[in-house]
Amino acid sequence: MSRLVVVSNRVAPIDEGKQSAGGLAVAVLAALKKTGGIWFGWSGDVVAAPPSAPSLTPVGRLTYATLDLAKRDYEEYYNGYANSTLWPLFHFRLGLTNFSRRNYAGYQRVNSLFASKLAPLLEPDDMVWVHDYHLIPFAEQLRMIGMKHRMGFFLHTPFPAPEILVALPNHEDLVRALCAYDVVGFHTLCDLRCFINYIRFEARGTVTDRGPGEGYYIKAFGRTLVARSFPISIDTEPLVALAAQAANTRQTERLRDSLVGRDLIIGVDRLDYSKGLPQRFESFHCLLENYPANRGHVSFLQIAPPSRSDVPEYIAIRKELETLSGHINGRFAEFDWVPIRYLNKSFTRRSLAGFFRVSKVGLVTPLRDGMNLVAKEYVACQDPEDPGVLVLSRFAGAAEELDSALIVNPYDIESVADALQRALTMPLEERRQRHADMMGVLRRNDISVWRENFVTALTRAPYDS
Ligand code: UDP
Repeated sequence: MSRLVVVSNRVAPIDEGKQSAGGLAVAVLAALKKTGGIWFGWSGDVVAAPPSAPSLTPVGRLTYATLDLAKRDYEEYYNGYANSTLWPLFHFRLGLTNFSRRNYAGYQRVNSLFASKLAPLLEPDDMVWVHDYHLIPFAEQLRMIGMKHRMGFFLHTPFPAPEILVALPNHEDLVRALCAYDVVGFHTLCDLRCFINYIRFEARGTVTDRGPGEGYYIKAFGRTLVARSFPISIDTEPLVALAAQAANTRQTERLRDSLVGRDLIIGVDRLDYSKGLPQRFESFHCLLENYPANRGHVSFLQIAPPSRSDVPEYIAIRKELETLSGHINGRFAEFDWVPIRYLNKSFTRRSLAGFFRVSKVGLVTPLRDGMNLVAKEYVACQDPEDPGVLVLSRFAGAAEELDSALIVNPYDIESVADALQRALTMPLEERRQRHADMMGVLRRNDISVWRENFVTALTRAPYDS
């Protein structure tokens, strides 16, 4: 069996027992344990003079290999090109996309540096699995220094429509770099369509259907590869079990007690402009305006841990939400009821599982999102006898699979308020049916199915011959 080498911008914390380890880390670790291998990436540290060799930490058959970043690399590669250019562009936000040649050079430089540091660690039969938009040129850089391994790439964000992508000065270089992989994976069929449309109409490549669920052969830039959708998922059964336990923890009890019989709507998102939080607050405002019976009877808990706080657009959205939540609370609060509980901090998986269980409605309304795992987690955490209702944006990748949620357009504030009202008053039978449908999806496609499908596709590479 070939070794697996996983490359991601951040290497997840090594403490596997940690409750907050995300589903991706768990899945990747499981794969690495099976085949042995390396998890390679940035340590998360920014230092004045990074050591020239990666720091290696062997744990059983797997080795964590991490590099520190120099301050300039952190600014240009990470805050700059990755998070101020590619992130907004890939979320269809041209107005927020900043481009500079200096940041682009930093992005290429770090990818080239990382590839040169990984190359000496590779064995001939290794398979390299690269994750996310920070590292698109990684395979091209490895191939430039003579590495002939099987290489796959999975994009955790949406892929933009070609009309948006061509606004990026170096769009062709970026897609050429993607074609240096043997397998390129996206969350949804929508992302896959955007990619193949670019290949057909911009790159003038050829696209051949491989049959249902198998994606496409792509011939472009002198290479042949497979592009396919692999919707990421959650570790379903362990989360179902965790939520059943978490239903009775002291913290969950405290939340329940604080509601004194009122209904709770919950939102959990990184504080990011892609998550549609201002529109969501406006929708809750509209619910209280248009359906006044909810005043004093429904609370909205929004958990929004700050992220990327060095990037100006993230400072701006934080201010906007503070103003909005203050305004709505000022307008509607009573001496014994506050409409919005807005929290800028993060919680463990166990705490969230308990909070989801108590909430009548999970409100997930991104303007554009790769998958959105919170949507799936909310469903998995419900009591199947008395489940809450998921209100889900059509622009979350999860909406392709979770079509038994109440699907909304987050830009249409009043219709989201209508959906909230429908969710809050939905009969038990309908709630159970929708929940059972969605649990079927989550049980058929959990995180291990996602990982197996990707690794299997990569094992069959190269697709050239
Ligand atoms: N999360 C968490 N604690 C928090 C907020 C979020 O553990 O306080 C987790 C959440 O349960 C989910 C992940 O962070 O597993 C967020 O993933 P998602 O796909 O929803 O959004 P992303 O942050 O990747 O854009």
